[in-house]
Amino acid sequence: EERIISARQSAEDAMEVSLRPRYLHEYIGQSRVKENLKVYIEAAKMRREALDHVLLHGPPGLGKTTLSTIIANELGVQIRTTSGPAIERPGDLAAILTNLQPGDLLFIDEIHRLNRSVEEVLYPAMEDFALDIVIGKGPSARSIRLDLPPFTLVGATTRAGSLSSPLRDRFGVVCRLEYYTVEELTQIVRRTAELLGMSIRTEGAREIAVRSRGTPRVANRLLKRVRDFVQVRGAGVITLEAARDALDRIQVDKMGLDQVDHKLLMSIMEKFRGGPVGLETIAATIGEEAQTVEDVYEPYLMQIGFLERTPRGRVVTPRCYQHFGMEMPR
Ligand code: ADP
Repeated sequence: EERIISARQSAEDAMEVSLRPRYLHEYIGQSRVKENLKVYIEAAKMRREALDHVLLHGPPGLGKTTLSTIIANELGVQIRTTSGPAIERPGDLAAILTNLQPGDLLFIDEIHRLNRSVEEVLYPAMEDFALDIVIGKGPSARSIRLDLPPFTLVGATTRAGSLSSPLRDRFGVVCRLEYYTVEELTQIVRRTAELLGMSIRTEGAREIAVRSRGTPRVANRLLKRVRDFVQVRGAGVITLEAARDALDRIQVDKMGLDQVDHKLLMSIMEKFRGGPVGLETIAATIGEEAQTVEDVYEPYLMQIGFLERTPRGRVVTPRCYQHFGMEMPR
């Protein structure tokens, strides 16, 4: 079963598209990224050139896909959307590239999962807007170069570290998205509530924000669950109490941790005296893949100072012991 606090997109998030801000001024938070992008977009428009290629990186659910759509809207160009795993062969990418209109934006989600042979088609495309095609086989094979329309590649990844350096070096603009503050998430919750036609008090919105792990996708999802409880009870407004009650029932605690986080942290404290313990072992205790634990769950636990990475493994902090009301082993 998918965790409610999971930042990964699920079928339930289908309506996300309608919740997405469409222009930079509607996009809440990430102010440094926004300010820089604004300048680059403006400059590209003044020069009537395609915007430089942009790499967006950071944990899932922070607004990378949303931002790519916004960049296209601000530039007034079309967006084509695909993902690393969806492009299997070089020919697939060639087909996409040759169908672009001048200035178009090509969005590749999970760009770190492109395979090598596809990546090699991307290099000359990004650098020279050119496509090198090999015709024939064996000794008579020759390569011809096709011109492509100028375009902007926007790549998104949860692991900037897994990008090959020739690929990373071809992005002129690199933006790192950060976890959102409670204030920003409160604004996001209020905005979504308004779009969904719900009435919500600021303290109710804030309570949801506090438990959303710094992540807009989680905030929107928690809001929808809280709405269910409020509607079934026949109350019209999401108050602080209503939000608290619903969130307690769905077992998302005051730090945004769910049962799986509890299990993960408790097992380190109870079975391994707080660590250090290896990533693989942690992954096994909650039945997840090590990479998912590392990319999706650990960053937030480290952000709130509950978990630390050391050369010998993961270690639980005093703050974590405090949260669970546990005694630190000496
Ligand atoms: P990512 O691509 O990083 O996984 P998305 O762009 O799909 O994240 O964002 C997830 C959801 O969160 C979107 O549907 C959008 O409604 C919401 N969201 C993300 N960033 C913002 C923001 N800055 N302001 C308002 N809503 C946002």
